[in-house]
Amino acid sequence: MGRILCIANQKGGVGKTTTSINLAANLSRAGKRTLLIDLDPQCNATSGLGQKPTPRHSLVQRTPLHEAVVPTTYENLSLLPGSRSFQDVDALAKSDDSQAEAIRVHLTNELAGYDYVLIDSPPSLGQLTQTALAASTEVLIPIQCEYFAMEGLTQMINVIRAVMKRHPGRLEFGGILLTMYDPQLELTREVDSEVRDFFGEVVFDTVIPRDVAVAEAPSHGQAVIDYAPRARGTRAYMELCLEVMEHE
Ligand code: ATP
Ligand code: MG
Repeated sequence: MGRILCIANQKGGVGKTTTSINLAANLSRAGKRTLLIDLDPQCNATSGLGQKPTPRHSLVQRTPLHEAVVPTTYENLSLLPGSRSFQDVDALAKSDDSQAEAIRVHLTNELAGYDYVLIDSPPSLGQLTQTALAASTEVLIPIQCEYFAMEGLTQMINVIRAVMKRHPGRLEFGGILLTMYDPQLELTREVDSEVRDFFGEVVFDTVIPRDVAVAEAPSHGQAVIDYAPRARGTRAYMELCLEVMEHE
């Protein structure tokens, strides 16, 4: 069985979806059979890959994965599209432990064919994110280099620890990723050293620079590697991909 990476941070707009799409695209380019699961009702990962949300989320319906996944423009990358259905969001968000477990089993049973599964989760610590964490082998936390970056992180780590306790030996800290990095800014450098002092080894060496090409790419339904192959953001996500693969 492959690696299942949950991309999570309850803070909004820190680069979860951007990282999900671009890491997934790079992994698939490296020949890894990759699945991106869009678990956020905003469905940004789905539209960012030029795909359409589904009327009902296949995880709620327990549709067999092989029927629910759609191909993308990347040869080795499939997508499990998100859904904006209130009903489904409610059902997923309210699911108790046993239902979350059923979803987890449903998911993991069918993931055998993939080397990497990435789950883009919503900006919350609710049941949806917890279900995603419970189904994952690693959690990757993007952090935006801004003043409140570290705030809420303790809460987030407590939730991760609680999931680890409920499912011992499964979930690991995959790493913390600094995003929207601007080395010219004093604040960026401060956040960088604060995060590295506090979390040490767990922080990825790679940082993702603030780069307008990264922000523009999803409006063309593309990962930045195709939208702007020479952009700094492209290079950064390639490096991140290599760093992630080092831990295979
Ligand atoms: P949400 O919590 O709402 O799901 P998110 O954590 O998924 O948000 P993104 O949607 O990936 O965050 O990014 C937030 C915004 O920042 C988007 O407009 C995105 O295009 C932009 N952005 C992300 N990364 C970068 C970057 N490296 N350079 C420039 N803009 C970026
Ligand atoms: Mg998002």
